[in-house]
Amino acid sequence: MKLKEIYSVNSKPVISYEVFPPKDDIDGQKLEQLFVELEKLMKFNPSVISVTYGAGGSNQTESVEIIKRIKSDLKTTPMPHFTCVSTSEKNIKNYLNTLEQHGIENILALRGDMPQNQEICHDFKYASELVEYIKKESSLSAAVAGYPEGHREAESLEKDIEYLKVKVEKGADVIYTQLFFNNNHYFNFCEKCQKIGIDIPIIPGILPVTNFKTLEKMTSLCKVDIPADFYEKLDNHKDDKDYIKQTGIEFATNQCRELIDSGVKGIHFYTLNKEYATGRILSNL
Ligand code: FAD
Repeated sequence: MKLKEIYSVNSKPVISYEVFPPKDDIDGQKLEQLFVELEKLMKFNPSVISVTYGAGGSNQTESVEIIKRIKSDLKTTPMPHFTCVSTSEKNIKNYLNTLEQHGIENILALRGDMPQNQEICHDFKYASELVEYIKKESSLSAAVAGYPEGHREAESLEKDIEYLKVKVEKGADVIYTQLFFNNNHYFNFCEKCQKIGIDIPIIPGILPVTNFKTLEKMTSLCKVDIPADFYEKLDNHKDDKDYIKQTGIEFATNQCRELIDSGVKGIHFYTLNKEYATGRILSNL
């Protein structure tokens, strides 16, 4: 099913999960474990499972295999992520064809982070150009990324939202947000988007905190405000794994409750390939 339909036919908030292709999976065990974890999360009826691209060195072949299995084994709509920053037009065209040959209907269109020591391919500069190309060359429904606190390269949140609007004008059907811990940033972002005429669903991305080091790593990669009292609790117990998990689950549960009460069209969980925290939060809800 296409994203547009998924987010319009459901009266309840749509549940979606993000996973990544396991790293260094020489014998395929990690991939099998990923599907064990996803099987456990199926009882919450997710409508979409997205698969990251590029980050951590994953390649197109790995992504396609996971996407095919999400569709065939889990009978759920897969959504591959795709980054255009170091990819040629020819490569993108081939990839879009491959996805359509496998009956994939949706894609998350991204620019990707600028590579540090690698040559940049200049065929596509911004995600908006990728969205335009996808709409021209395929029948895929395109989602894009949004940043409630502004993208870290953006000169201001307002400017970033103006560029987000270009992605919508080029044909994006849904926006998935970067993780955030303060719902006020999301509400403020949605209000600003609405004011400039962005009228497609803006799906909040939720990261259940389960590990202090992972939290520090993820927040060093993007601009994200962690409420001081939450951070202090975690910092004071950073070596107590159970405490961190329980506190992270409790925090994310409350965050989701407030978002659902505000009428969001869906919640996108950054599962980090594990069932436990996302499953507890969804049970709590
Ligand atoms: P863009 O929308 O192109 O924006 C990039 C920057 O350029 C922004 O600062 C924007 O304000 C600015 N900009 C846009 N258009 C213009 C213009 N015309 N002129 C001047 N400035 C402009 N990364 C991965 O590598 N793999 C993944 O699988 C992945 N999945 C993600 C999923 C989600 C939900 C999110 C939120 C992010 C994900 N990322 C992923 C990270 C993403 O690739 C980075 O944040 C990247 O730096 C920006 O990608 P973008 O598509 O948002 O870029």
